[in-house]
Amino acid sequence: VLESQELMQQVRTLHLVDLRHHEGPLRTSDIPRPQAPAHETLERVRAIIDEVRVGGDRALRSLTLRFDGVELGALTIDRPMMEEAYHTLEPRLAQALTVAHRRIQQVYEAELPTSARVASDGITVVRHNIAVASAGCYVPGGAARYPSTVLHTATVAKVAGVERVVVATPPQSDGSVDQATLAACFVAGVDALYPIGGAQAIAALAYGTETVVPVDTIVGPGNLYVALAKAQVALDTGIGSSFAGPSEVLVVADATVDPRYAAVDLAVQAEHGPHGLAWLVTWDEDYLLEVDAALHEYVASSSRLEAIRSTLIDNGFAALVSSREQAIELANLIAPEHLELLHRDGEQDSAYVRNAGVVFVGADATAAFGDYVAGPSHVLPTYGTARFASGLGLEDFLRRQHTVIIGPTAIDEIGWAVEEIANVEGLTAHGESIAIRRRS
Ligand code: NAD
Repeated sequence: VLESQELMQQVRTLHLVDLRHHEGPLRTSDIPRPQAPAHETLERVRAIIDEVRVGGDRALRSLTLRFDGVELGALTIDRPMMEEAYHTLEPRLAQALTVAHRRIQQVYEAELPTSARVASDGITVVRHNIAVASAGCYVPGGAARYPSTVLHTATVAKVAGVERVVVATPPQSDGSVDQATLAACFVAGVDALYPIGGAQAIAALAYGTETVVPVDTIVGPGNLYVALAKAQVALDTGIGSSFAGPSEVLVVADATVDPRYAAVDLAVQAEHGPHGLAWLVTWDEDYLLEVDAALHEYVASSSRLEAIRSTLIDNGFAALVSSREQAIELANLIAPEHLELLHRDGEQDSAYVRNAGVVFVGADATAAFGDYVAGPSHVLPTYGTARFASGLGLEDFLRRQHTVIIGPTAIDEIGWAVEEIANVEGLTAHGESIAIRRRS
């Protein structure tokens, strides 16, 4: 047995961590850790984000000139250009991208969660799985190119059911995006590509510019600037993390419902205190006035008058809409914590709700049921975060981890596709790790 000192002299490429004499449980402080990012880096990322928020497209162009040395042309690349790239690709590479895409798709399709339904005590609870409406995938560029990252982000988003999937990636030195990355976008069904990289790309995806349409969630790897920008916009916008704050309710109702029911339900969430939100949405003008009068009467006699008023004064609204469709459109836009569909066709309309913490259906469907006995957790996303976040659920306590068992025929059957993609990405060791194992 060699002592640490002797061993250290013999290990030439790696740093030795000798734990043989360690006593007690291992802690993170017992091993070397990466250093936390410098304060100046955080400041720089903050400044880039602010520049994009204020300056929009112009800021994107000037930041790209500064950090990538590129004078940008068009800020958007659409599907016809991706398709063209795919058809000009060397056939074996095109096939490798398609094979990789098919395998990713298979894995995630098999993992799609099923909806769940339980009915008891006169209450039916259904759990639907609803994808965010739009997602931005950051694909690193700069030093290398990563068509594989396009496949490994956008494919998963599409399988989940995300309607609009966009990619942002740094431009090459001549301002273009490489053919393999564009082709991978085509294969994965990406809707648009922005040739923009770094923190400026993350800011554009989160806040939007004249050209870039903001997205509901941002995924994908990147360097330190990219990762810090993602953390920063998550703090500012909640993108990527839910925000369970002051209570909110949006009540959709019409003359099929006693106006006192709608009125008291507005008060139910308002009585939690200030900073809440209460919306009445109806297509019936007379009904709107009746609910308002009923609420006025209710509040005047309530023991929680102050709390209710504090919410209603700042954030109590009554919207008159043209149709049931527009009512749901408005609800999806507000993304309330609690959505009540009290009117007769509520169940039918609930199929079109995409953004709400929880949906209650039926004339008796007061959110008070949800606060206590309905079943689904009352820890719910507020402040519009129901656009991408969910109520507390099993997912919050589970992490995903795949185990990949490579069988004895895999090298011969599909190793070639690894080599093809590694080759175009310029990652030599990736390809050689396959070649060295090829037995025939
Ligand atoms: P990148 O796209 O992440 O970053 C390039 C951008 O960084 C440039 O467009 C520029 O805007 C910005 N930038 C560079 N220097 C800057 C500076 N001084 N100040 C402000 N902004 C600056 O590409 P990259 O740099 O090649 O890094 C890619 C990273 O992604 C690597 O670390 C790689 O290991 C990682 N990666 C991770 C995974 C994963 O799944 N974890 C997958 C692929 C790649």
